Amino acid sequence: MAEEARRARGLGPADCLDPWDYAADLKVDVIGADQLDLSAQYARQLLEVDPFSWSGLTIGHAGKTMIVLNSAQVRARQCSTLMHELAHIRLGHVPASVQISETGMLLLSDYSDVQEEEADWLMGALLLPRPALLALRAKGQTLEQIAELYAVSDDLCRWRLRMTGVETQLRYRR
Ligand SMILES: [Zn+2]
Repeated sequence: MAEEARRARGLGPADCLDPWDYAADLKVDVIGADQLDLSAQYARQLLEVDPFSWSGLTIGHAGKTMIVLNSAQVRARQCSTLMHELAHIRLGHVPASVQISETGMLLLSDYSDVQEEEADWLMGALLLPRPALLALRAKGQTLEQIAELYAVSDDLCRWRLRMTGVETQLRYRR
């Protein structure tokens, strides 16, 4: 799926895929919480008092899907949150329960653990394709350099290097 997403944009297998571009491809609107018309009290709670309590959420309304991102978090975090939410959508995940607001908006939540894992795997492949990891590590680029190139956190890069087996493959090559 990650390869197909790149191909559809005319990108090579190791090229960087911008999550906001991918959202546009999936016809999903993305908005930062700071762009919402929140009351001062809610905005303060969500973006200043407790900005680490949430990262993003997906809302369905009138056949359209929108993702709200926590605009107080750093960009690398917003990238992985957005890709994770898009992965749920691309994988066609149906949440175990939905909350419906008074105005009929659907708040999608409560995915199963298996679905969360699937979304994380696809998110990782979308943001950090294996061919890129292999080529860059073979050229001696550090984990931190790769993370910066692909606008992701060091932790995500470390996880992908381990889970894709790229380090092991290079060790055998040496
Ligand atoms: Zn999720």
